Amino acid sequence: MAKIGRNDPCPCGSGKKYKNCHLPIEEAARAEQLRLRRAVDTLLPKVIDAARELPEAIPAALTRYWDGKYTPEQLSELDDLEERGADRFLTWYAFDYVQEDGRTLVERLASDPAGLELAEEEARLLPAWADVRLRAYAVQEVQKGQSLRVSELVEGTIYDVADSAASRRMQVGEVLVGHLVPAGEQFFIGGAVAHLTEDTRDKLRDFAELHLEALRRDRPDATWADLLRTRSEVLNHFVMQLPVEAPDPTLLDRILLQTRVALQLAGESIGIRRESPESEESPEGERAPESDDSPPA
Ligand SMILES: [Zn+2]
Repeated sequence: MAKIGRNDPCPCGSGKKYKNCHLPIEEAARAEQLRLRRAVDTLLPKVIDAARELPEAIPAALTRYWDGKYTPEQLSELDDLEERGADRFLTWYAFDYVQEDGRTLVERLASDPAGLELAEEEARLLPAWADVRLRAYAVQEVQKGQSLRVSELVEGTIYDVADSAASRRMQVGEVLVGHLVPAGEQFFIGGAVAHLTEDTRDKLRDFAELHLEALRRDRPDATWADLLRTRSEVLNHFVMQLPVEAPDPTLLDRILLQTRVALQLAGESIGIRRESPESEESPEGERAPESDDSPPA
């Protein structure tokens, strides 16, 4: 866009000079966006601190997020065992894990932020964060050093993410698995993300759709958002199976095959459980052990 002079006629067609019409409005909006952007950086650590202050549910949540691979005692080493593993877990614990009162920590804080001592902008951000869940996004465009355009892997919704660090690290086609938090007109990356190579993109989408298909056997109208509200940790179960060094296409196919087999077994137990509506969610621990020689579906 050509730069408009302060004394030029305002492009809105009001007949007034730009400086007396839309310039001050635009400047105020930019300043507001900047304040919200800074509030993202100060609110996130407050949310994570609040998560650490809820240790009772951490063992059960950690087992679910890491699919039983790590014990709660390993929380302090997780950043070494998995790329930013402790940060990623705590972000998920705050945004996704449903606590005893039926709400996530962020949902609870959004409705009762009294204990957090929030600045005005932080308090304005928090309500919109209650709906944020762990999701997978494919990178569509990169403005190096500025922003990323991503599409949600299952729903296809487009988001512009103002994250200069991520825009330097990531390339078109790659996948990020993490939390996008809204702030005003923009989205930001909340907490640590897993960064996946391009070859995983279609496989992760297939993997996600298998889980949705399994949920729909029980709830035919279930959406992807419904699945994320009950078990977004499956995205991390995919991530944690990936090789750290060289790409391995046969491994990706094996993950999908094992998922298909495991979900069909889980499906039968959901069918049996229908008589007791209290326990609809089958615990992760009851999953059949996976094996390489399971018959294909
Ligand atoms: Zn104007």
